[in-house]
Amino acid sequence: MANPFEAALQQLDTAAGYIGIDTNALARLQKPMRELHVSIPVRMDDGSLKVFEGYRVQYDDSRGPFKGGIRFHPQTDIHEVRALAFWMTFKCATVGIPYGGAKGGMTVDPKSLSERELEQLSRGWARAMSKFIGPHTDIPAPDVYTTPQIMAWMMDEYSQAVGVYSPAVITGKPLDVGGSQGRGIATAFGGMVVTEAVSKKLGLKNPRVAVQGFGNAGATYAQMCFKKGWKVVALSDSKGGIYNADGLDVDAVTKHKQSTRSVVGFPCAQAVSNEELFALDCDIVVPAALEGVITPEVAKTIRAKLVVELANGPTLPEADKILFQNNITLAPDILANAGGVTTSYFEWVQNLANYYWTEEEVLNKLTPIMERATEDVWQQAQQHKTDLRTGAYIHATGRIVASMKSRGRI
Ligand code: NAD
Repeated sequence: MANPFEAALQQLDTAAGYIGIDTNALARLQKPMRELHVSIPVRMDDGSLKVFEGYRVQYDDSRGPFKGGIRFHPQTDIHEVRALAFWMTFKCATVGIPYGGAKGGMTVDPKSLSERELEQLSRGWARAMSKFIGPHTDIPAPDVYTTPQIMAWMMDEYSQAVGVYSPAVITGKPLDVGGSQGRGIATAFGGMVVTEAVSKKLGLKNPRVAVQGFGNAGATYAQMCFKKGWKVVALSDSKGGIYNADGLDVDAVTKHKQSTRSVVGFPCAQAVSNEELFALDCDIVVPAALEGVITPEVAKTIRAKLVVELANGPTLPEADKILFQNNITLAPDILANAGGVTTSYFEWVQNLANYYWTEEEVLNKLTPIMERATEDVWQQAQQHKTDLRTGAYIHATGRIVASMKSRGRI
């Protein structure tokens, strides 16, 4: 299997097959501008010293400062972080916010650390990166297994390193240190705006939904579906999945997860694996965990009419082709989960202005951006008779190349 970055490059190549991308721009877009690889020593609770590997890939900043989250995961490596940084570049351009793309990571299982060890590690990452990030250069954010608390520690460490209180260096912070109203639900909220816009075009009403991943993005999205009265037939997390054809009570599943740390074992549901979840009889399937889960084999089993990628990079290029041939619409990650970074942009704007908005104001600004981007992507796909992912890349690449040209970079 190709590593995630090779798969990401194939997506750009596919778009390049439809439009004549300037060859200099293509050459620049095929490589990251800068990669940082750091070691972070942490004194563990038992007195031993452990050294962790950390990364920051600054992919492209033609359209503005680098922007992208930080992932803490045992399988995180430079290939994954590079791919995620690539996707951030195209995501910010898809929704038209003034940022380039970056991503950070740490190879660690944060669940195995105590709170003190996690704080030391988070502060260590921010200290190691402090010369390379900043409110006008590179602005990190949360991703898988990183939280608002971790963002607060990192913001504090950076502020101490530069000697200036700098909330705008990082987004996804708690509200009491410059976080934005609405940031916690933004990825799911934006995904829902995209889901509704695409469902309308497909004539999908009261869909039955299956969601893989019950974290910030997936659980919030499932709760939103449940509130709308849509049937959420399946949910999963890293330990496995649950299924009920009559619909799950998502509020009760949330409580079950809070008390047992997993959705698994929820009463009145059948156990399913993370792979089986994709083959269930439903209308919308939502990968909201990790990349590479929709392989060609899995794609062949999908019966839903719409796939909404809340996760980054969940679908392999060969699987994309199968879905398109099978007339299954896919709302791609660089559109469907862009509500998170768009609200991070709002958080940054509020930090720089030191003037804060209500949740209603935030969501009222987010909705038209997501609707506009969905329409732009849909139109590109229609015009080029291709899938929405390629439509999104065509749309985003046009914006990136225009900035490169204006800056004299190509
Ligand atoms: P999270 O840490 O809050 O949740 C991750 C979830 O995935 C957890 O429920 C975990 O149990 C589950 N998971 C982990 N490994 C799994 C596996 N092997 N199989 C099935 N489930 C597994 O993370 P999140 O912020 O919700 O991010 C999820 C995805 O959404 C990632 O791809 C991330 O890049 C993407 N995303 C998140 C945001 C955001 O604002 N949080 C924004 C854009 C994209």
